[in-house]
Parts: sequence; C-alpha cells; structure tokens
Amino acid sequence: MTGPLLEFRPEQAKPLLQEVMERSGQMLTACYQCRRCAAGCTVADETGFFTPNILIRTVILGDRETALSNPLVWKCVSCYTCGTRCPNDIQTARITETLKKMAKEAHIAPLQPKVAAFHDSFLESGLRWGRVNEMEFMGVYEMKNIIREARARNYEAIVDELKTQAKLGMAMFRLKRMHAGFMTTKGRKEIKALYRKTRKKPGVSPRVNP
Ligand code: SF4
Ligand code: SF4
Repeated sequence: MTGPLLEFRPEQAKPLLQEVMERSGQMLTACYQCRRCAAGCTVADETGFFTPNILIRTVILGDRETALSNPLVWKCVSCYTCGTRCPNDIQTARITETLKKMAKEAHIAPLQPKVAAFHDSFLESGLRWGRVNEMEFMGVYEMKNIIREARARNYEAIVDELKTQAKLGMAMFRLKRMHAGFMTTKGRKEIKALYRKTRKKPGVSPRVNP
C-alpha cells in the first residue's frame, strides 16, 4: 500500500509542529512510525489510507497545506482506536480536531462540507437550548446543505439529500431515536457564558464552517 508523497518544508516545519502540539496537547515528536494506529484506523479505506501516522509525519515535515486539508482531518470519527493502540499515547482525534479549527481560521474550504455543517448545527443547537434538540438540529443541518447545493446549482443533489434524510428521519422516529419536542436545560446561560469565554482565548474558533 503506497501513501501520498510527503514534502519537507523546512521554513514551516517548526512553527507548524509547535502550534499543533500546543493546541492539541499531543506529543507528535514521540511518534516513531510503528503504524499500530494505521492498522486500526476505522476510516483508513475511506481516506485512501491517509492514516494517523502519515498525518503526524506531514505535520512534522511542515507540509501545512496537506496537514490542513486531507481526508483524515475531515473523516476521522474520533473513535480513539488509534490512541488506545499507540505505545506513546498519541491521540490523533485531538490532532484532527485541532487541524480542522486551524483550517477554518485559515479560511480553507472544508474537504467535507457536510461534516463542517454538522459541527456548526450541533453547536448552534446546543447553545440555543443548552442541549441538542434533534428535530431542530437536523432541520438546520439540512438547510445548510441545501443552501450550499443551491448556490452551486446542484439541484439533483438537493433532491437526493432530501430523500435520504426523510428516509433516515422516519427510521429514527420509528426507533424512538428522534424526538419532536423542544427541551432546555437549567444551565443555558452558564453554557453560553462558557462558550463566550473560550472564544476569547487566542486561537480558539469553535465554529468549523467558514
Ligand atoms: S501508533 Fe503512535 S507511535 Fe505508532 S505510528 Fe501511530 S502515532 Fe506513531
Ligand atoms: S480516532 Fe480518527 S484517526 Fe483515530 S482510529 Fe478513529 S477515525 Fe482513525
């Protein structure tokens, strides 16, 4: 199995590595490319085998463009399987999350716009109600997807999306995994205050979608 061709960018290597290590809290320099993470990554075939060890090497080599825009950053499902297998306790899920935020700050269009829309809708719903209300969350998420496809005049994709989501929604209703009502929590104000506080921290950008 061959991976992507990696490039060494000496001028970017140190600052990129330092920023990713500080923000993710992960010691990327401890990686010795044993590939135990690669063997267990849940989405390896979905990413064309752009595995956690390759992502880490990309950052170490200073290839900022590839590090901020690659399939693993957008398809990692934060299952933490790689981290539990890593002999050096490197949690790649934290790295992919950090790189997503950095991509957003750099105004790089997300490779998976639906994932970005999902993140934003989830966060917005949580902030509005103090918890996620499934119906509202799914509605806002779908609207974001429809608006994006409409701007690209991709009307076929809109119809497909609506059909797929209607089918999924019905199935979830039947299984009682989706609820129509609105619920709030007592600590809504506190949650909003915490959110505002984190946004004031340098380098923090909770919304993913540009
Ligand atoms: S398992 Fe850990 S040390 Fe081994 S390649 Fe993956 S990240 Fe690096
Ligand atoms: S946390 Fe992400 S990178 Fe790690 S195994 Fe799961 S999907 Fe792969």
